[in-house]
Amino acid sequence: AFLDRIDALDGTIGAFLHVNHAGALATADEVDRAREAGEELGPLAGVPIAVKDIFCTQDMPTTAASKILEGWVPPYDSTIVQRIRAAKMPILGKTNMDEFAMGSSTEYSAYQLTRNPWDTHRIPGGSGGGSSAAVAARLAPLATGTDTGGSIRQPGAVTGTFGAKPTYGGTSRYGLIAFSSSLDTPGPVSRNTLDGALLHEVMGGHDPRDSTSIDQPVPPVVEAARTGANGDLSGVTLGVVKEFASGDTQGAEEGVLAAYRAGVATLEKLGAKIVEVSCPNFLHALPTYYLIAPSECSSNLARYDGVRYGVRVGDDGERSLEEVMSTTREAGFGPEVKRRIMLGTYALSAGYVDQFYGQAQKVRTLITQDFQTAFAKVDALISPTTPFIAFEFGARTSDPYQMYLSDLYTIPTNLYGGPAVSVPCGLSEGMPVGLQVMGPTMGDEITYQVAAALES
Ligand code: GLN
Repeated sequence: AFLDRIDALDGTIGAFLHVNHAGALATADEVDRAREAGEELGPLAGVPIAVKDIFCTQDMPTTAASKILEGWVPPYDSTIVQRIRAAKMPILGKTNMDEFAMGSSTEYSAYQLTRNPWDTHRIPGGSGGGSSAAVAARLAPLATGTDTGGSIRQPGAVTGTFGAKPTYGGTSRYGLIAFSSSLDTPGPVSRNTLDGALLHEVMGGHDPRDSTSIDQPVPPVVEAARTGANGDLSGVTLGVVKEFASGDTQGAEEGVLAAYRAGVATLEKLGAKIVEVSCPNFLHALPTYYLIAPSECSSNLARYDGVRYGVRVGDDGERSLEEVMSTTREAGFGPEVKRRIMLGTYALSAGYVDQFYGQAQKVRTLITQDFQTAFAKVDALISPTTPFIAFEFGARTSDPYQMYLSDLYTIPTNLYGGPAVSVPCGLSEGMPVGLQVMGPTMGDEITYQVAAALES
């Protein structure tokens, strides 16, 4: 049924870069046979899933929506994909994204636009716009995403879906195409909190092949989502981030703030104690992120040299190795990726590294301290997920800073490493608005509990 729906609607939505018809049907048949044989199956066996095209899949192309990886089929599966296969979930295909996950609208995909199912003139968010649009358009019941600065939560907010960024290290990065290794976090995209929790438990858990993977059990997020669904938040203290609650300095849309405040009022009615918390360093998160993420990306993307992966351009037998590498990179990378490589290379260069990268690392510590101070007083922090609803195509592509503002509220969590989810909290101008719940590291349960309570 989902494959039929993709055939009928994805010409308009553009969520998929690759559809895995035969593979998905084969897994579905396998599940049917296992069921008939009375085999014990997990809760998501037979439930189809869409996979962001940044996860390596050994039987499907993996491009990260970049021309430089066009046609590349990896020799192995990422850990997340291995776990999805072990759970017997049919993989419907690979979803569109901003090139190498750099962007907030999916407009930086080298291949196609993805349209927001709520209004096809508007963006589906990014970088994981394909995954969120697929779930919002009911082309898939579940999808995977990756969140480096907001790429699961922001698309979730603007498409009216649920998205979770787990604790950094709680989900494996092995076989995930690297953007910013100290921030990249795989997570679930779903229609609602409980579905997301079920997928989180399939994806999560220790992986010895990822050196930053946390060697602890997956936080019991399914149980937390079920608890939250009872709609009782008595005994839970939520901190409203003062710096993100007013539109004065941050340019948040009034309609977004109104829907968010209605969400806060509902949480209070459910018994949560709401207090105001000041996190002054959160206001420095955006510039901090735009030094750290490009610095790491400039190093991670050095491997695309036309020798080992994907396309090679200009290898005419006359040019030197170095010339072939630079022609390949010039032709293969899009404008946003080049901008990040330039920014990162500059921030790391001799003479500037302390002033830029070193300084950003210090501010990152201050942001972490803001979280720790807050979590001594509250169970979770809340804010809007994004400052604005889905914008129209082209509205923010000419000024990178305007695009970067999309992640104003999501980025502090990535710099800290904690968990955060986005859950729908209402509409503004007929478009969905998301409420963000941020928790302490390895305390993913509270984010699910609060989100499920809001849905109840
Ligand atoms: N929009 C942010 C960026 O462009 C975050 C991307 C992400 O989380 N992958 O870097």
